[in-house]
Amino acid sequence: MRLASRMDRLGTETAFEVLAKAKLLEAEGVDVVHLEIGEPDFDTPGSIVQAAKEALSQGYTHYGPSPGLPEVRARIAEEASRARGLSFTSDQVVVTPGGKPIMFFSILALVEEGDEVIYPNPGFPIYESMINFAGGIPVPIQLHEGKDFNLDLDELKAKVTPRTKLLIVNSPNNPTGSVIDKSELEAIAKLAAENDIVVLADEIYRRFLYEGEHCSIATFPGMRERTIILDGFSKTYAMTGWRIGYGVLPRDLVEPITRLMTNSVSCTASFTQRAVLEAMDGPQDEVRHMLQEFRKRRDIIVEGLNSIPGIRCVNPKGSFYVFPNIEGTGLSSRELADSLLPDAGVALLSGTAFGKYGEGYVRLSFANSAENIRKALDRIRTFLSKR
Ligand code: PLP
Repeated sequence: MRLASRMDRLGTETAFEVLAKAKLLEAEGVDVVHLEIGEPDFDTPGSIVQAAKEALSQGYTHYGPSPGLPEVRARIAEEASRARGLSFTSDQVVVTPGGKPIMFFSILALVEEGDEVIYPNPGFPIYESMINFAGGIPVPIQLHEGKDFNLDLDELKAKVTPRTKLLIVNSPNNPTGSVIDKSELEAIAKLAAENDIVVLADEIYRRFLYEGEHCSIATFPGMRERTIILDGFSKTYAMTGWRIGYGVLPRDLVEPITRLMTNSVSCTASFTQRAVLEAMDGPQDEVRHMLQEFRKRRDIIVEGLNSIPGIRCVNPKGSFYVFPNIEGTGLSSRELADSLLPDAGVALLSGTAFGKYGEGYVRLSFANSAENIRKALDRIRTFLSKR
């Protein structure tokens, strides 16, 4: 079968491929520690599961409006406003199956053939994939280890041209765990406003912060009307498999993105939407507990990696990933990732899965128990010492 040529431009997310490989090895009896996939190892809080069951019994089993159930959009608008000290209205919210479709839809709705999109590299691989798919020109901005994986403002300024349509900002960042500080975010906002650039602010990890408070780029002057906020429930409430997220959008984008919803998935599952009302209104102690655990695990993994010869690791300020430099091992990122899985039973990702500036690094997710993290660290140490 001859596929449409546009499919050549669509990339993928390596985490799912490595997960599949690891599962195959496990089926053969190999013990694998999973540090590849970006999802909390906790269960969804019981009250949310209960709310979903009740919603199913109450008949929330039908199509709903494409942008989301009105009461859910209203509650999300409140939550998004409270979290950022802004006032969003419910008609700016579109509920989507996970946060990911907001990337897909925003890029499809905004980027013309030849438009340039600046995005973090290393960064979430779907940004680059979608820019290419839409016919845009991907313009990677490097995140530097020496700047705790932040970008260089002068480099960013040099990347802006009259064709720059969109700038993607992801703080806390996947895969590096970096958090952009307020003054730097303000400078980025100024650059976007002065050059009439739309910003996609991927804030899916905003609750996973180990220092300070979350700051949204939407809060700076002139930014509310040019910022697309991507947020959701997957990570914070351990709901990755439920598929629910949302965009808080500039008004001009609400109708086009709703139309993309209608054309693709129709709507987000109705009972899932009802369940996130409980996520927002119900007790938050399980979320707090999960975040405390992540903090402990971060300390274990960073200390452990830094004690392995050939590896050095920046302490991440947010998210649940570390992105250690492995150049001192003498292996490339791919070589290390590809051999650790079969030879040591540790699944992690090559830094190059996050773009060209990921060479020399690997990504480990610490969304696994302290015990498993220690086991993985021991295995990596042993593997490297034998080489
Ligand atoms: N944005 C980033 C940076 C992510 O890492 C992820 C998931 O891994 C998403 C968005 C998508 O989240 P969801 O599962 O809600 O679609």
